[in-house]
Amino acid sequence: MKDPANILENYKPQALDNVYLYSKIDILKEEIILTKNVVGVVEGTDPVLRDEYIVVGAHLDHVKPVKGKVCNGADDNASGSSGVIEIAEALAMNPCKRSVIFITYTAEEMGLYGSRYFVGSNAFPLEQIKFNLNMDMIGRSDPDHEQDRAHYVVTNKKYVDKLEEFISELNDGITDFPLIFDNDEHSPGGSDHQSYISQGIPAFFFFSGLHKDLHQPGDDPEKIDYPKAESICRLGYLITTKLANMETVPTFE
Ligand SMILES: [Zn+2]
Repeated sequence: MKDPANILENYKPQALDNVYLYSKIDILKEEIILTKNVVGVVEGTDPVLRDEYIVVGAHLDHVKPVKGKVCNGADDNASGSSGVIEIAEALAMNPCKRSVIFITYTAEEMGLYGSRYFVGSNAFPLEQIKFNLNMDMIGRSDPDHEQDRAHYVVTNKKYVDKLEEFISELNDGITDFPLIFDNDEHSPGGSDHQSYISQGIPAFFFFSGLHKDLHQPGDDPEKIDYPKAESICRLGYLITTKLANMETVPTFE
């Protein structure tokens, strides 16, 4: 090691043969923490379809400080949470036939706790929830797409083709950057839409890609691409209103 003061830069991984590590964890204190999802509903106008729901959601929590520095989480996920509020404000001015639930989830980072709780709570009958749009990071671009500002639309493999058709049709002129339709198998870990997909409800998430500030103190508002986040919200609004006004919501399978 050339410079012991700079351990990280000089660290070289070494393969160790036949080395085993044994560990034992004692949980000294278990604490129950109460936390909350935040939910609002714009009621549908149709006497029958108002009992069906489209859900627009994003997680509102973030990670604990890293090396003593607060992680503000501007992209992950103040961007998506703001998106939910923006779409709710626009949609409330002109309600749809179906009801639209707007939700910001707690404890996503710990393992999708908020969305799993919501889906399992039966606060709204599960069979009446027809679709979920999730927004988790909508304000940056990943290093491979800094020039073209491409944005990901991530869903389960079984929905990806039909969703691509549906969203591309609506997207005409809304975004001026490419949309990359991807499936969960290629995405970097799940987000809250997975709580819906695991219950058979079609869902996807808007995701602007991984970057070096993810879960770090550098995820700050001055690095957000606001015009990009805005056009993703406009597209999200169009998707939501189209689904909430159609005669029947497609299964996308
Ligand atoms: Zn996130």
